[in-house]
Amino acid sequence: MARLRFATVWLGGCSGCHMSFLDLDEWLFELAQKVDVVFSPVADVKEYPENVDLVLVEGAVANVENEEMLLRVCQRTKTLVALGDCAVTGNVTALRNPLGVALEVLRPVYIEKNDLNACIPDERETVPILLDRVVPIHAVVKVDFFVPGCPPPARVIRATLEALLEGRTPTLEWTERKFG
Ligand code: SF4
Repeated sequence: MARLRFATVWLGGCSGCHMSFLDLDEWLFELAQKVDVVFSPVADVKEYPENVDLVLVEGAVANVENEEMLLRVCQRTKTLVALGDCAVTGNVTALRNPLGVALEVLRPVYIEKNDLNACIPDERETVPILLDRVVPIHAVVKVDFFVPGCPPPARVIRATLEALLEGRTPTLEWTERKFG
């Protein structure tokens, strides 16, 4: 049987969802028997590849770089899973939304409270440009499955992956029955 091409992606999030993924501990060895990890922050791969079967996406869409990456991931991946509350709802990453558009968030920090060389970082190559609103990933691309939690418990990530690897539809009810 062909090995599944598996990826994980880190957008606007704290990496806690990836820490929970790593909490799968020895089950990661079982996973490694079934998949090839073709892209992940825990692997040294620079470019998101073509023909990915399954991706877990952590984090919301907060800047232009997140948006471009997510569109690329969607184009190149068969099954896309929103991993954690930031990806699912915006959560912590979206806390800045009530403060106003990006300029209203940046101005007090980089201009008004800065006496030395006050300027807003906007060089595309060094600092990604903030979007005016942080949005969950389903606002940008089609998401196949949602795994909520901040972060989702490792047992829920495992149940989700096991279901998908076996060709079943993961459900939270099923994951809690098996591992709750
Ligand atoms: S859902 Fe929670 S743990 Fe995951 S990236 Fe967001 S803040 Fe971090």
